[in-house]
Amino acid sequence: MSDLNIAVLGAGVVGLTTAFQLKTEFRNANIDVISEKFNEETTSHVAAGIFRPGSGFSGPTEEITEKWINDSYHYWDDIRNNSEGGVAGITSISGYVFSSEFPNIVRNYYLEKLVPLYRQATEEELKLCSGIWKYGSFFTTLLTQCSLYLPWITVKLKAKGVRFISKRIEGFGDIQNNYDAIINCTGLGAKFLCNDKKIVPIRGQVIKVEAPWLKTFFYGNYDTYIIPGIGSVTLGGCRQYDSYDMNINKYDSLSIKERCETLLPSLKGAKVLGERVGLRPHRDIVRVEKDVQIFNDRKLKIVHNYGHGGYGVTTAPGTSIHAVKLVREIFSGNSKL
Ligand SMILES: Cc1cc2nc3c(=O)[nH]c(=O)nc-3n(C[C@H](O)[C@H](O)[C@H](O)COP(=O)(O)OP(=O)(O)OC[C@H]3O[C@@H](n4cnc5c(N)ncnc54)[C@H](O)[C@@H]3O)c2cc1C
Repeated sequence: MSDLNIAVLGAGVVGLTTAFQLKTEFRNANIDVISEKFNEETTSHVAAGIFRPGSGFSGPTEEITEKWINDSYHYWDDIRNNSEGGVAGITSISGYVFSSEFPNIVRNYYLEKLVPLYRQATEEELKLCSGIWKYGSFFTTLLTQCSLYLPWITVKLKAKGVRFISKRIEGFGDIQNNYDAIINCTGLGAKFLCNDKKIVPIRGQVIKVEAPWLKTFFYGNYDTYIIPGIGSVTLGGCRQYDSYDMNINKYDSLSIKERCETLLPSLKGAKVLGERVGLRPHRDIVRVEKDVQIFNDRKLKIVHNYGHGGYGVTTAPGTSIHAVKLVREIFSGNSKL
């Protein structure tokens, strides 16, 4: 398979993780990452990056969903455990999810089976934050900061000969002559590239503050979260369905600040480092599948890997492993294409 030319479209966490898995599996292939935006311009860069798959994340079957989540956890944990975990931005983090009304909110059936520590919060712990909390869980999970992971994996890919091309693609036909296969990891961009009506933006806004004393994450009611990372703490958040607004909204800022400071009064006066907006690329079922399109009698083989919504940092490795398996099927003659 030495002469294969493969393009990975998109340089967010999904695209770069896919390119990495692809280069590991197809060592001799020529791989290009083609993307309009890189690093801090991507949605991936906005994410706090906590490993916490939610009920809004789904693959085509429950078995596949669980495999994606498990494979992802082990990918992140393996990097964390080797000497490069720090430079790659992957750390372990513990914290609380509280709810004043619903016990289900504080349970995460995927994490319960996966992480080293997962338990109910004690009566004492339910009083840690202001508010009347009836239900709570405490667990240890992983945090991947894309501000470090994306540059780290870019260096790895370049060292393996992967080329990076800065370009916006208007349609697959733009590049079809140059490649044997394309892996489409364009997130929300896939809505337009594939005319996929099932993908919808869920707008989010966060505030980054300086609060080095905080080492624990907290989730409360109304999408309120406080997640300490390297160099800053992320305060969130909001989920606005079908909104494309990339401007910082002052009402969202005020609401996030008030909700987080009410939950944890020690945040009052923490220095604001910046605010960010991102559009989560939500699809009811994340699309990881083979496709074929015909241009001038030539069949273009495509593998899609997009639609991770609010869980793309968590689950990029699992869906990428699956996408690379589909590429393998295409070129080993097992494909129905
Ligand atoms: C506020 C917020 C908080 C979040 N927190 C978390 C979290 O804690 N944990 C978690 O797991 N997830 C979180 N997420 C979700 C996560 O950020 C996304 O699921 C993830 O970034 C999706 O990655 P992606 O690579 O698919 O998309 P992106 O990062 O958007 O990358 C898409 C890439 O495709 C390129 N592209 C698109 N169209 C084209 C085109 N036509 N031509 C060329 N290139 C193109 C773009 O330029 C970009 O490089 C959060 C999201 C937000 C907004």
